[in-house]
Amino acid sequence: MNQQVRTDSIPFIDVAAQRRRLGRVIDDAVARVLAHCQFIHGPEVHAAEADLAAFCGARHAITCASGTDALLMPLMAKGVGPGDAVFTPAFTFYATAEVAALVGATPVLVDVEEGSFNLDPESLIRAIPVARKQGLKPKAVIPVDLFGQPADHAAIAAIAEAEKLFVIDDAAQAFGATYRGRKLGTFGGATGTSFFPAKPLGCYGDGGAIFTDDDELAEILRSLRVHGEGRSRYDCVRIGLNGRFDTVQAAVLIEKLKIFPDEIVARARIAERYSAALADIAVVPRVAEGSTSVWAQYTIRVSSGRRDEFAATLKAQGIPTAIHYPKPVHTQSAYRHYPVAEGGLPVSERLAVEVISLPMHAYLDGPVQDRVIAAVRRALAG
Ligand SMILES: *Cc1c(COP(=O)(O)O)cnc(C)c1O
Repeated sequence: MNQQVRTDSIPFIDVAAQRRRLGRVIDDAVARVLAHCQFIHGPEVHAAEADLAAFCGARHAITCASGTDALLMPLMAKGVGPGDAVFTPAFTFYATAEVAALVGATPVLVDVEEGSFNLDPESLIRAIPVARKQGLKPKAVIPVDLFGQPADHAAIAAIAEAEKLFVIDDAAQAFGATYRGRKLGTFGGATGTSFFPAKPLGCYGDGGAIFTDDDELAEILRSLRVHGEGRSRYDCVRIGLNGRFDTVQAAVLIEKLKIFPDEIVARARIAERYSAALADIAVVPRVAEGSTSVWAQYTIRVSSGRRDEFAATLKAQGIPTAIHYPKPVHTQSAYRHYPVAEGGLPVSERLAVEVISLPMHAYLDGPVQDRVIAAVRRALAG
């Protein structure tokens, strides 16, 4: 076997492959918007909301301008602000903690579980007295469904109920995933997701959505996204923002949602194949019993001293990797002064130096999967 190793580059996430598959339907959908010219909150926005709610089983889907706004607006709606503590995992994209700081509350950083990389309920329990000792009022928790896998929503709900915390599920990476047979979008008081193009369900620009079963909350969120308007446009009843989802993006999203179930199946098959081929040589991701993942990332662990070399070896063979996340939130200069759970955040710190994600998207074909697998095996064996 002295086959030559291929070194031409493959994409980490192939947005263009999906674009080729969709082809004309996207052009036609955008052309319809260009014909009717209702660019702000046009009919596609309302149609997309109905489709999204039906897809996940939530009573309300409220689209908005980004995944960040989808987390920010529920905090605003609940009146979370100065003096309040909002608990978020430290091992996440820092937008999760950012929204707490934006409303003037204090993000309190919590550790994650070794197996799922998601919020550790035991660490959350240890974080609550830390917040109280600092004179903060525990108000909300934002668990993250990291890399496409649901957090332990039952355990988090039990703590939230006992402590009267409002739960906002950050499903930016995991819309479409299920927990105990139910789709995300139906856990906690509200769920936020993102349609950033690289997320499992992306559009062709920024966008997001909030899901809730609470009628009153839904009405406040719909008001908040248009500057806090009341019954009419020139009646302002609360401080809001411009948080609208664009009509052109809604038209794109409607078409993408139609093929999303099929893409989720494709992603799961690729993840299964990676795991079967790599489990003997690498620490492969584990999906908790009773959950399904949409595989926003396929993330393995490599001993910390070897990660850079491993990435460089793959890169030389045209295989990109990514590190989500090299710095947990509590070590970022903008967040260093915020409180952390009692006992510190050792798992988040360890994951930050060990994790590395392999190429993952629904259009990664068999030969490319083989190339990734062979390259990873060679790099880890060498
Ligand atoms: C992407 C992401 C966000 C923010 O979404 P945007 O649409 O980029 O604003 C929030 N939380 C997590 C976990 C994310 O991955």
